[in-house]
Amino acid sequence: MSETEYGEVVGFLTDLIRIDTSNPIKPERPAAEYVAEKLAEAGLEPEIFESEPGRASVVARFEGTDSSADALLVHGHLDVVPADAADWSLHPFGGEVKDGLVWGRGAVDMKDMDAMTLAVVRRMLREGRRPRRDVVLAFLADEEAGGNFGAKFLADKHPELFEGCTEAISEVGGYSYEINPELRLYLIETAQKGLAWMRLHARGQAGHGSMLNTDNAVTRVAQAVARIGAHEFPVTLTPTVRDFLTEVCEAMDIEFDPDDPEAAVARLGPLARFIGATLKHTANPTMLEAGYKSNVIPERASAVIDGRFLPGGQDEFLATIDELAGPGVTRENIHLDRSVESPFGTPLVETMLAALKAEDPAARTVPYCLSAGTDNKTFASLGMTGYGFVPLRLTPDLDFAAMFHGVDERVPVSALDFGARVLDRFLMAA
Ligand SMILES: [Zn+2]
Repeated sequence: MSETEYGEVVGFLTDLIRIDTSNPIKPERPAAEYVAEKLAEAGLEPEIFESEPGRASVVARFEGTDSSADALLVHGHLDVVPADAADWSLHPFGGEVKDGLVWGRGAVDMKDMDAMTLAVVRRMLREGRRPRRDVVLAFLADEEAGGNFGAKFLADKHPELFEGCTEAISEVGGYSYEINPELRLYLIETAQKGLAWMRLHARGQAGHGSMLNTDNAVTRVAQAVARIGAHEFPVTLTPTVRDFLTEVCEAMDIEFDPDDPEAAVARLGPLARFIGATLKHTANPTMLEAGYKSNVIPERASAVIDGRFLPGGQDEFLATIDELAGPGVTRENIHLDRSVESPFGTPLVETMLAALKAEDPAARTVPYCLSAGTDNKTFASLGMTGYGFVPLRLTPDLDFAAMFHGVDERVPVSALDFGARVLDRFLMAA
């Protein structure tokens, strides 16, 4: 193991990877106990909260020097998505370090941030340093399945833990994209699309499959699904996406015509992965259910649609879905989660940039919109402005977007050390 300035960070990450917290079905409790022990050793007073047996989250407050300042929430999730060892080059729960990288499920999503946070906080405490603001540290269960047993449970049952928190930082942002050795863009996530998982229900006339039937529930739901699946939602530039494209196109010397943003996105290379789905709403049919016998026309049929709407577009999106679904089809919202859009250029973002620049003079921050969601949505409901900021300086050869939920998930040791240094500066100044 290479010796780093934040010597503990790699060990914490490899330990956490070895604690299998696959969601479903391995509970987070052992990881929560590990984290709580590391925080307690350093002098904080962490508390473990269980929403269900084994579904554990940890929260601790690190008191700042300025008690009048608003508090900052730093949150990370402890669960990971499952991994099939047969597909991997190294065991996904082995926590191995090879060729200067830490390998394993959670290496980037997001035990890396959990480990960096632990290493930085412990170092600050060892050296008798405190952040300026109160920092609430939360290590959460269940993010990968929507957060009902983690962030949502805590926000609902224990909102007092987050008292005074006005801003939050967490995953899926803060990593570098190298334009050239003199310019690295750090993507700060400032917006998230909303999520609408919907079940469409059609009812019709049940009957024998040999008879005439002009009121068939299966036909009706199939038509609704076909219309929705084939629908082209119009390209709509939200402020975040417009800022992102303006900045990135300037940095990459690509022409950006706001009337044709897809042309610019097509030339962004790997960055297109992050941004392609944030130009418009999407609605993908994912499940169908109807019938039980070849010659019986069922009374009901249903389908599930995975919808993602742009910030500010929820009502208009749902109205479009209803219109496409057509008469005789009703919509049930299985899971509806808000979109968020946070301002860029705030003092907190300036602090991120200053911390990055101190460690990487070639750094420039760029806002972007995430097409998926994180626990920041939940904390937005408590009034917090959330950002994706896990600082990592990456080497250009790593396809970082492919690491999230991917096979052979891994992160450079040097990026972890860089991230810890930036996070330390950030927490001291935020
Ligand atoms: Zn994650």
